[in-house]
Amino acid sequence: MMNRSLLLHRLLGLALTLGFLPCWQQVHAQTAAKAQVVILATGGTIAGAGASASNSATYQAAKVPVDKLLASVPELSNLATVHGEQVFQIASESLTNEHLLTLAKRVSALSKQADVDGIVITHGSDTLEETAYFLTLTVHTRKPIVLVGSMRPGTALSADGALNLYNAVATAASASSADKGVLVVMNDEVHSGRDVTKSINIRTEAFKSPWGALGMVVEGKTYWFRAPVKRHTLQSEFNIDRITTLPKVDIAYGYGTANDTAHKAFAASGAKALIHAGTGNGSVAATVVPSLRELRLQGIQVIRSARVMGGGFVLRNAEQPDDQYDWVVAHDLNPQKARILASLALTRTNDSREIQRMFMEY
Ligand code: GLU
Repeated sequence: MMNRSLLLHRLLGLALTLGFLPCWQQVHAQTAAKAQVVILATGGTIAGAGASASNSATYQAAKVPVDKLLASVPELSNLATVHGEQVFQIASESLTNEHLLTLAKRVSALSKQADVDGIVITHGSDTLEETAYFLTLTVHTRKPIVLVGSMRPGTALSADGALNLYNAVATAASASSADKGVLVVMNDEVHSGRDVTKSINIRTEAFKSPWGALGMVVEGKTYWFRAPVKRHTLQSEFNIDRITTLPKVDIAYGYGTANDTAHKAFAASGAKALIHAGTGNGSVAATVVPSLRELRLQGIQVIRSARVMGGGFVLRNAEQPDDQYDWVVAHDLNPQKARILASLALTRTNDSREIQRMFMEY
């Protein structure tokens, strides 16, 4: 015969299964299981506001403060205990090295707190990929760090920010997101912060990764299909806790009839490295090669990237004799990501062979 305590246990189990538990017990069970996620707001369209609901592409970015942003998606509390913090409020095309340093140092400090399980950063879409790569390279943590933006302001019809934010918090709250480098969640997809790039203007499916997305987020659950193989976060030799300034690195564009005016001007204004956003396979016009060789002799690093979108990589010693000229190739990094890695590389070395190693490893 069943004793009283076993009977009570069975009845409790039945009540749980049927959803008859008293309210306070359910709330307590949910709270105990909830992850603590900090949302760092930096501006962008996700904090944008337009004059009318039909203004999906004409609006002012960086208007809505973080508390209003969080209040507009009450469903976030189903996923995690969220806490908001306004780090700065800008349209991300105006991002500077100082913004990058401030944000990364805050992310690093938060990631060391025992009461923080994951971090979400709301960001303008224009330079989101640069910030994501910078954090991937400099923040030493296993905890999920997720960047998110939107392509339409919250005031627009079919605004995408609320669901993107919901998906980002779900990803940051999930233990499955740990140790995958910094992530970017947009349009139901999870991308590697290293690979992802804004590839389409205006449309909501704006973000693509040349080597493919890592996974998807559907109804608050994250599904994984691949993982990054390049060095990131804990395996990185760069550490934001030890970086106070970033050397100046600029990007000069390659095109038919290109000349060396921009390269020389950047060098004269103090650039320590030049990213050549070359034509196919990082090719360099004959009108530009002599100046780049001269600038390299003056100590400026020359790094060949490519303006070609969508994949592949720049092959060393093809198109230009990099060994002979002592130039570096950016491998598969686009010019804006190459700028991020080059400036971090220069905080540690000015040896072009070392910098080339970094471009192959990160
Ligand atoms: N240009 C603004 C920015 O990047 C708005 C674009 C957006 O966030 O989608 O912050």
